[in-house]
Amino acid sequence: MKLKSILVILLFSFACTKSQEVEVVKTSTSNTERLPMVNETKIKNVILLIGDGTGLAQISSGQLNIVGPDGYLNLQRMPVTGIVKTQSSSSLITDSAAGATAYSCGMKTDNGMIAYLPDGSHCKTLLELAKEKGMSTGLVATSTITHATPASFAAHVRSRGSQNEIAEQYVNSGNDVFLGGGREFFIPQNQEGSSRKDDRNIIEEFESNGYEYVSTAEEMQNSETDKVLGLFANSGIESENRTPTLQEMTNTAISKLESNEKGFFLMVEGSQIDWGGHGNDAEYVIREMKDFDDAVKAALEFAEKDGETLVVLTADHETGGMTMMTASDDPHKLKVEWVTDYHTGVPVALMAYGPNAIQFTGWHDNTDIGIKIAELMNFGEFPLILE
Ligand SMILES: [Zn+2]
Repeated sequence: MKLKSILVILLFSFACTKSQEVEVVKTSTSNTERLPMVNETKIKNVILLIGDGTGLAQISSGQLNIVGPDGYLNLQRMPVTGIVKTQSSSSLITDSAAGATAYSCGMKTDNGMIAYLPDGSHCKTLLELAKEKGMSTGLVATSTITHATPASFAAHVRSRGSQNEIAEQYVNSGNDVFLGGGREFFIPQNQEGSSRKDDRNIIEEFESNGYEYVSTAEEMQNSETDKVLGLFANSGIESENRTPTLQEMTNTAISKLESNEKGFFLMVEGSQIDWGGHGNDAEYVIREMKDFDDAVKAALEFAEKDGETLVVLTADHETGGMTMMTASDDPHKLKVEWVTDYHTGVPVALMAYGPNAIQFTGWHDNTDIGIKIAELMNFGEFPLILE
């Protein structure tokens, strides 16, 4: 009996460390109107939005806190929904490298690999094919811009940890817009905060390739070139009072890419939803959901106005095994609980809006998403293994 009560106390305190109460907004001011289906015209532009580590509980608890039970987040206004299976070739539980490679290359790879296959070959990415078609391209993230998700679209390395090498590969990738954090991988070793092991100044290499370098939100707003490297933090961009916000970066990217008559491909990542999950920190997850959803709003506003832009939103995997309970004293109080500080293998949601969005309805393997986008864009042979 005594042992039993000790166990109960132990279990109770364990549960307490893994759960947080989340405030639920009572009245919603959100736009609850779902976006309409769009005629099956040709697709000119693609915006791929990836919420890293974003499962249904992340979306739904964000919704309850931001717009309340009756409200809808911007991403919930997208008319087409699907479900995506996320396993990688090395595990039932993917990491962001293999997860993003499934989207960028339409191929499974091992965890940790960036558009790179276990046999050492590289796979062609959607972004590279878009470039070859003469389209403009962009990558936006709130992590380091050399982090696994953005890297999987414009670099090829065996290990996601090789962020110095990813920065080097970016210089000649042809990608037009890079906005995110991670200055540490671009500045020579003698500069404060550098993580490089050499004297290369990757920022200067970008500048001699015709890019404008910006490091503050204001510089970003004032930049006039179409090719821009924006690094707004030494590492990831600070979550609290973020500047620039993901929405501001997304709007900047769109404004630089949209002038190309051949269209553009843009990948925007809400990188730190995943970090909140790793930290089992509901407040962090929700703050990041808001930042991400504001960027979704920017993407949807552009797509609505443009009429030829396909917007696809999904996640690479869920993080934390986050689930939603109610507080024992109040069934209207949300209590978030966690299963792990790593990723889980539960499928993730997909949302789509724009021409041919309907093609994304139903269940998919994560590789199907990249393949479907390549097909709709007439990118030719895909997936494609390079030597
Ligand atoms: Zn993660």
